This record gives sequence, C-alpha cells and structure tokens, in this order.
Amino acid sequence: MQTQPTASHFVNGEYVEDTAGEVIDVIYPATGEVIATLHAATPAIVDQALNAAKAAQKEWAGWSPTERGRVLRRAAYMIRDRNHDLSVLETYDTGKPYQETSVADATSGADALEYFGGLAASITGEHIPLGGDFVYTRREPLGVCVGIGAWNYPTQIACWKAAPALACGNAMVFKPSETTPLCALKVAEILHEAGLPAGLFNVVQGYGAVGASLISDPRVDKVSLTGSVPTGRKVYAAAAEGLRHVTMELGGKSPLVIFDDANLENAVSGAIMANFYSTGQVCSNGTRVFVQGGIKEAFLERLVTRLANVKMGDPQDPEVNFGPMASERQRDIVEGFIEKGVAEGARLVTGGKRVEGPGSFLEPTVFANVTDDMTIARDEIFGPVMSVLDFETEEEALARANATEFGLSAGVFTSDLTRAHRMAAGFEAGTCFINSYNDAPVEAPFGGMKLSGVGRENSKAAIEHYSQIKSIYVRMSEMEAPF
Ligand code: NAD
Repeated sequence: MQTQPTASHFVNGEYVEDTAGEVIDVIYPATGEVIATLHAATPAIVDQALNAAKAAQKEWAGWSPTERGRVLRRAAYMIRDRNHDLSVLETYDTGKPYQETSVADATSGADALEYFGGLAASITGEHIPLGGDFVYTRREPLGVCVGIGAWNYPTQIACWKAAPALACGNAMVFKPSETTPLCALKVAEILHEAGLPAGLFNVVQGYGAVGASLISDPRVDKVSLTGSVPTGRKVYAAAAEGLRHVTMELGGKSPLVIFDDANLENAVSGAIMANFYSTGQVCSNGTRVFVQGGIKEAFLERLVTRLANVKMGDPQDPEVNFGPMASERQRDIVEGFIEKGVAEGARLVTGGKRVEGPGSFLEPTVFANVTDDMTIARDEIFGPVMSVLDFETEEEALARANATEFGLSAGVFTSDLTRAHRMAAGFEAGTCFINSYNDAPVEAPFGGMKLSGVGRENSKAAIEHYSQIKSIYVRMSEMEAPF
C-alpha cells in the first residue's frame, strides 16, 4: 500500500504542501520503519485553512439540512465500501491489528457520518407561545470549528468531530496527532468526493504549536480536543481567552468493579476489553479492576489462561490480535509505570516485558494486590497494564472507584439487578457499563465528568455542542413605550 500521501495537508478541497514546515516522520510501530514523511503546517497553511473554512461555512449553512445530511451519508457509504484499504492504513498509522481496525475504526467513523447525516434535517428550533406574541428559536451553527485529535483512533476521532460539526452547518479545520497524521487525510478526500464543498473540512498537520495557533485565532468559534488532561488544560485556557465553545475528550483512570456473583467468563472478557483492546491505548479503559474477595483467585487464574491466547506479530495479519504500542515513546512511558508498580510492591501476575526485536511491542501486563495509593492505580498509563485491587463491600467499592480526579467511564459485573443500577447511579463517570465494557455506539452520548472532560460527543447531545440557539421575539400587537 502507498502510505505516503499526495501532500501533507488538505485545504480548500485539495492536497497542499509547504516543505518549509517542520518534518513529521510517520513510523509504522510494528517495524519502526518510516512509512511517510510529512511537514507541519506553516502559518501560511494555517491561514489558508482558516480562510477557506470561514469562506465556505456561510453558504453551507444555507443548504437545506437534508442535502447536507445526504453528503455525510454518501461519505459513510463510501467509507464502508473502502473499509479494507482504510483499515490497512489505520493499522499502518497506529499499529493496531487489522483484526480490530477492520471492525472498529473506519466503520465507527461511517456510523457517525450516517447518524449525523440522518439527524441533520431534524435539527430545528421551537415555537414558544406567549398569548398573542410568540418567540421562535433557530438552532444555528457556531461557524468555524477546530478539531484536534489524539493518536489512538485517528479515523474515528476525525469523523466523530466532523460529522456533528458539518451536520449543524459548521466548517472544520482538523489537526490530527503528529503521531498518526495519515487517516484524517483520507476522511477529507472521501468527504469531498461525496460532494462536500471545498473548504468545509480541512486537515492541517503539526505538533502542539500548530494546534495552539489554531485555538487562539479570531476566526475560530469552537475547539474540540481529544487528548490528555494536561493538553486539555492548556487548550481550555486558550479557548477561554476568546470565549470560544469547547468540547474536551480527555484521559481517564476508570474503575471496573467485579462482584462475587458475576458470571466469571463474562467478567474476564470485560476486563480484557477494558484493558487490552488497542494494546490498552483507549481513554475509557477500566484499568482499576476491583475484584471481590470470593471470586479473586478464580478471576486471576482464568484471566491468565485467556491471555495465553494473545497473538502478537505483524498487525496486518488478520490472525494477530495484539499490536505494538503506537510509538517507542509511549512504550517507554508505559515501561516506566510497570517499573513503579513493581517498586511500590504490586504483584506482577503476568507480562511486564518488552518484546525484543523490531517494533514497539510490550506484553499484556497484569498486576494484583494493587492498593489505591500506588502510582499504577492513580495515573493514566495508556498502555496494556491492568491493576487488580481487592475489595469486600459494595459501599467500599463505590467509594474507592470514585476516589479519582478522573470521571470518564466505569463498569460493573454482577448478577444482582438492583445492585448493578445502584452502582451505575453512584459512579462519577460519563459512561457506565453494566455487564459490559467499552462499547461506544454513536447513538449514545460519550464524554467525561470531572477532569475527564467537558461536553459530549455522539448522540443528539453532540448537536448542543456544535450549534447555538437564537431566540426571535415576535410582537403581534402594537408596540408600547412609556413616552
Ligand atoms: P496529547 O494531549 O499529547 O495530544 C493530543 C493532541 O493535542 C495532539 O494532536 C497534539 O498535537 C495536540 N496538542 C498538544 N499540545 C497542544 C497545545 N498546547 N495546543 C493545542 N493542541 C495541542 O494526547 P495524545 O498523547 O495524543 O493522546 C493520548 C491522550 O488522549 C490520553 O490521555 C487519552 O486518554 C486521551 N484520549 C481521550 C479520548 C476521549 O474521548 N476522552 C479519546 C482518545 C484519547
């Protein structure tokens, strides 16, 4: 496959290059090879992208919503048609196994485009009667939105931001992560092939500095970031300067609580999905696995047995189910956490070692006897490291599950119906799972509480974050005034 794109950026409906920008080498994490070389956007490219977005947005907002939606739905069908090639590219960009990317990335992006494409024509205001007079409201676009992506789900993140933004009549300038810059360019290509007018979805590459220059530009009305909490703090503060709207999809340290009465096999599957999918590089992962005393030994034994089925290797091989870390840097960070886990007294049950040879592979790792104060139980690791913590009572489990500054997700496995709902109600987290983990249907709101974020992506809730309401008062009687 040709992994070098036509050019680094996609601006105003076409590929553009400016070799004066800082070099970005794209590395295939499975081999360490450079598979493409791009350039970060110069101020001239950023300027072109924002001008193009600004110029195109007004006319797009004037299209009938059904026609806007049709473009998005057409793009969704095209993405599904090209799922194989897009999944191969996603695997080159991220290192995630094709077994995953072929069912979880372009397909999820297509879902978002189809969902918001279908919703576009239903985005309406309301009529508010006041006796004779009345008010009607219009739901209007915000204008130019900036999207900034993380490196774990490059196609999905681009689509999850583009779809609601475009459905509401906005334009977008999207900056992918510098680690995975390839996939968003394909999304831009397909959207334009599907009939999106030039300028409405632009992709500019770059490191944090390019992102920062976008957020503070007066042409920008909204910023949606998927990234870490430290970056979120900076982006939120910069957006606040211009009172810009924000959506912040940030990190987490989510709890997964497994009670004695849980179905053991399902609970083990849940813990695997909560920790090892995408080699653990998922923001919503349930990395603090609280296991009740009566089931703990059976859980650990079954988990270790199931982990023997991990197949590492060339992620393009459909049989491989566990890929490398997305970058050498990320593997170093995760290894640092594993060392801390051992040093602070957690019991290493399995894994913990890098795989020697090419590529940034790291074994799936499980720690038991983890306590709440250990670094591995407090900090987001963003890698394949599960911490198993012991607990005895429901009250204790809930209190400890919530004792974190994050609040992205939380899960519970139990066969007690009322307890499951009590736990879900008590969790301080934006997305909760009962006898499941890490499902992210586009129909459901997704986002974080506490430090994990602001706003929601997906579902009807996302419309609130890509539009604003205008009230129009209509007087039906004579206008009165005191003098
Ligand atoms: P990161 O915060 O390092 O980078 C995210 C993006 O922000 C990148 O595109 C980066 O170039 C850009 N950026 C960095 N500094 C910036 C600045 N000052 N101004 C503007 N943009 C800037 O995150 P990452 O390492 O790419 O991704 C991992 C993090 O993302 C994890 O914390 C993970 O939990 C989080 N994440 C969250 C979600 C979610 O939906 N909640 C989804 C995926 C990843």
